Amino acid sequence: MKEPDIKKVVRQHIEMDDFFTGGFTVRGQRVEKEHPETDRQAADDAAKELEKIAEEVRQCCKCGLSSTRTNAVPGEGNPRAQIVFVGEGPGADEDAQGRPFVGRAGQLLDKIIAACGLKRSDVFICNILKCRPPGNRDPRPEEIISCLPYLQRQLELINPEIIVALGAHAAKTLLNTNKPIGQLRGRFHEYYAGLGSPPIKLMPTYHPAYLLRNYSQENRKRVWEDMKKVLTELGLPIP
Ligand code: URA
Repeated sequence: MKEPDIKKVVRQHIEMDDFFTGGFTVRGQRVEKEHPETDRQAADDAAKELEKIAEEVRQCCKCGLSSTRTNAVPGEGNPRAQIVFVGEGPGADEDAQGRPFVGRAGQLLDKIIAACGLKRSDVFICNILKCRPPGNRDPRPEEIISCLPYLQRQLELINPEIIVALGAHAAKTLLNTNKPIGQLRGRFHEYYAGLGSPPIKLMPTYHPAYLLRNYSQENRKRVWEDMKKVLTELGLPIP
């Protein structure tokens, strides 16, 4: 693989800071559902169930990716999150650490979350695929089919107000459509977590890795517009 151009990486990093946090106050405000004391138990139960799923994911051998992974990456965050971010699948850094979005794309996602006045621990972050496809190739249909039930269970348990689908693979998989991300992003769609439960609003937006590769003011603005719609929908202030 081609070595990254260090100057370009540094410039992008500075611009990324300016765009997503420069000039904005990072409020560090927690997004929490208004749960009274009685709801604390439900939050603890959700956390336990999520950990059970995470352990199943770590033991999973349902597809070939289990033989090439270093670590499975179940996802992490607030079990009562109002926002769940869903990416495509772990990359090299995530595979090495067993945590989602910890590489360059993850740093950009952190900036986006901070620009929203939130902390990483306020939200839940996970992926369609829980194991890294070798060489970061696209997920294969049979891998998605094997892995998707884990994500479906996570979403059903967390039951967020909004899912932010990062990139084409997440959006297309969760919405069961073949439309391009350019057509899907920017408006809310509906995701059905379970029979009988009301749909969860889903906002597709560009994947941070796509933003890094196509680093135009226009694309960054588009992502920020999408996130502003999410904040407005949640009744949260736009920093
Ligand atoms: N890209 C993803 O889609 N997910 C990660 O966890 C990291 C990079």
